[in-house]
Amino acid sequence: MSSTKRWILVTGATAGIGYSTAEMFAKNGDNIIITGRREDKLKELADKLQKDYNVEVIYYAFDIKLKSEVLKFVDEIKSKNITPDLLVNNAGLSRGLDKIQDASIDDWEEMIDTNIKGLLYITRLVVEMMVKVDKGHIINLGSIAAYQPYTGGSVYNATKFAVRAISDAINLDLVDTKIRVTAVHPGMVDTEFSTVRFGGDKDRANSVYNGIDTLTADDIADIIFYVASLPERVNVQHIMVTPTQQRSINAINRNNIFK
Ligand code: NAP
Repeated sequence: MSSTKRWILVTGATAGIGYSTAEMFAKNGDNIIITGRREDKLKELADKLQKDYNVEVIYYAFDIKLKSEVLKFVDEIKSKNITPDLLVNNAGLSRGLDKIQDASIDDWEEMIDTNIKGLLYITRLVVEMMVKVDKGHIINLGSIAAYQPYTGGSVYNATKFAVRAISDAINLDLVDTKIRVTAVHPGMVDTEFSTVRFGGDKDRANSVYNGIDTLTADDIADIIFYVASLPERVNVQHIMVTPTQQRSINAINRNNIFK
């Protein structure tokens, strides 16, 4: 690669927070690598970023749950001599909201395999590359659910508690390097998240946000961009951000105060 611009790697960029984050960095002139499973959406975003911001964009469609796919992806970026300057571990999902006695074990496995194991596979490989050049930043998408368990949230909560623990432990692992590790923990963000959680039931998904001026994907992208733009000496370890109408998982004001 001839360019000396930064390379920003965003997982789960076909929608929501990942999509907005990729665009935010492209707007800044950074080169972008985007991933997700839906290749058509990745291609659409790649074309848009190249056209609107004149940056280099590489996209790879793969399932982050599959270790062999993650290995193949990392080999491809290595073959292009790219070491990401920033890895945004955003790909993630929730499935279902059933109590422990009713929940689907398949849903649990999908959340664990995506939110924990997928994140770990890619982090392991990319951090190894970053350590070689003693440069880089990992930003993990945690959640308010990484701090506050809720009814029906057991395994999603567990995966986000794990992301929080992994972020803390990796910070310790990397103390002798210049590599920074941040976890961003949002409350309600109106994305495809709830539609995915409720298996495509848009009415149920929309009801989650009734009366609330939620965070937007752009709000989170702004925060990620801010954290990544601080001087290298500054390591923001955790940020929790909620809508003004949501102060905890359950302290929610649904009275449309901003409308
Ligand atoms: P979203 O709109 O549903 O986007 C999720 C992204 O993750 C999509 O691009 C999806 O791409 C990707 N993804 C899911 N499973 C994947 C897999 N197996 N392999 C590769 N990519 C996969 O949700 P979002 O709200 O932007 O969520 C982004 C992150 O923020 C997640 O980690 C979520 O837990 C966290 N978060 C969200 C909220 C919220 O209220 N929305 C709050 C706190 C934290 P494909 O479907 O194309 O694979």
